[in-house]
Amino acid sequence: MNAHEPQGDRHEAQSTHVLWAPWRMSYIEADKPEGCIFCVPPEPTTLRSSLILGVSRHARVMLNKYPYNNGHLLIAPHRHTAHWSDLPEEEFADLTALLRRAVDVVNLALHPQGINVGMNLGVCAGAGVADHLHWHVVPRWLGDTNFMPVVSTVRVMPQHLLENYDRLHPYFAPSSADEQGSSPQK
Ligand SMILES: [Zn+2]
Repeated sequence: MNAHEPQGDRHEAQSTHVLWAPWRMSYIEADKPEGCIFCVPPEPTTLRSSLILGVSRHARVMLNKYPYNNGHLLIAPHRHTAHWSDLPEEEFADLTALLRRAVDVVNLALHPQGINVGMNLGVCAGAGVADHLHWHVVPRWLGDTNFMPVVSTVRVMPQHLLENYDRLHPYFAPSSADEQGSSPQK
């Protein structure tokens, strides 16, 4: 992600580099789940354990299990593909609408001072799951580079994840109706 900061600000890039280091070791060291995390069926009984916050007709939004910051969301199409051109127009539009909704929710629920929105295409660009497109939405606060390494240890982070899940999930609840066909609306 840090290699693809949208604004390309040098100071910001350095900050993000610091930001991502400590707790993401657990991702590097962890046993990787079999299969694609974006293709796990969004069953109602396992939404929370899967960190899936909301599902639209063609896309899902979930918390990143190994976040760069509190409230780090991932938005992915249901279609398992690494290529934009594989997404029919309707699926692209639905994915984009859910991305916009995710940014709105982060602003409403977490009140960040800034947000990074980005996508890593390909392993060498930093994609952890390279074969399934997904957007990153990372809320940012001034000073988070100092704050996060203290609170976001491997031990602490799972608790923060579920707290964040419970805080954010209600904002996406109306989108469950989207499973019946309409695009997510604010
Ligand atoms: Zn997939």
